[in-house]
Amino acid sequence: MLYTRTNTLMYERVREQAATYADLIMHTKMWNYDYGGVYVEKRRGVDSNAYLRQLGVNPDVKVAGGRTFTIRNHAIMIEEISHRSEKQDGVRFRIVSLKPIDPANVPDKLETAAFDQFARGERESHFQQKGDNPSFRYLKPLFVEQSCLECHTTQGYKVGDVIGAISISIPMTTLVREARANKILIVVAAVLTIGLLVTLIYILTWRLVIKLDEVQKRLKKLASTDELTGLKNRRHIMKRLEEEFERAGRLQETLCLIILDIDHFKRINDTHGHPFGDLVLKRVAKRLQEATRRYDTIGRIGGEEFLVISPGTNAEEALHLAERLRTTVSQEPMGDGEKDVTITLSAGFALSKPGDRGSETLMKRADMALYRAKQGGRNRVEEG
Ligand code: GH3
Ligand code: MG
Ligand code: MG
Repeated sequence: MLYTRTNTLMYERVREQAATYADLIMHTKMWNYDYGGVYVEKRRGVDSNAYLRQLGVNPDVKVAGGRTFTIRNHAIMIEEISHRSEKQDGVRFRIVSLKPIDPANVPDKLETAAFDQFARGERESHFQQKGDNPSFRYLKPLFVEQSCLECHTTQGYKVGDVIGAISISIPMTTLVREARANKILIVVAAVLTIGLLVTLIYILTWRLVIKLDEVQKRLKKLASTDELTGLKNRRHIMKRLEEEFERAGRLQETLCLIILDIDHFKRINDTHGHPFGDLVLKRVAKRLQEATRRYDTIGRIGGEEFLVISPGTNAEEALHLAERLRTTVSQEPMGDGEKDVTITLSAGFALSKPGDRGSETLMKRADMALYRAKQGGRNRVEEG
């Protein structure tokens, strides 16, 4: 679009230039005509107008002193100016006529077509001539006036007829080359702009996808995490228990479940306040987390109750793990540095058996074992 618009503007500018030329030629011609021609000195290289002689007019006058002057009528003057113009900047112009007195003024094919346009009432004709030497062609009609008939009697004109036309040819080689360069520039600019836009959209979309992915991951983590301790929450670990139970059954492996419950936690809250109780819960969770193995899952299933799922673990390993979890909590006091308390916990563990109908059976056995640990004096592990 930009290319077409630039070309149209360029074409319009050349047309305006040609129209100005045509007006100027017209004025020059009329200036000469109004004087009935002007005399120039007949020096070397200045010839007399042969056509005037043919019409029976002597174009020359001799003046006192021996100098000879010859008349330049409007037709020959325009012709001579055209020669100069063509030599200087390549712009050619001439008067063409369908019934010329001078055979050099016969219109070419393109100019003849312009006369058809004038016959239809148009006041100018212009077109681009393509080829090796492209040029802009412009024609403006000349109308018969009363005064014209003095010379053009034999041609059968009447006032108002199109007697001829001013035909101008402006070379377009440079302009066409510039237009071509302009086209390349526009195409390159368009390709670069589109490329840049596509890259930008791609980068933005890519960043958005990464951001969305991050947000999705964070949301997923948030949905499965216990807010206070950072361990898995009850919903997640119970779902995990179902999956692991099903998997262990399929692979004929044992699944170990450990439930841990802090001893006399109510007292901690009562003595040191609820916020301190929260801090203790966090510390306990951290120690438990550090003591579990990579393939174990640990979650908080109640206020101060934790659940560990340990796949592929036998009874001996399960007891060992439960003991490790118990002692890791109780071996050192915990708190905020100013105020530290020794925390103990009780644990019950159970191993899956071939006859188990569901994970609830396993859970129940571990719970029973925990109950026995509490009953047995707390700070101990029992097997269910
Ligand atoms: P036991 O040895 O029999 O387990 O005694 P216990 O006091 O730990 O048992 P109980 O279940 O009676 O009390 C648990 C207490 O844990 C009750 C509640 O005040 C406290 N608790 C539960 N959730 C939270 C919590 O998120 N933060 C705090 N600070 N305390 C909690
Ligand atoms: Mg409890
Ligand atoms: Mg408790």
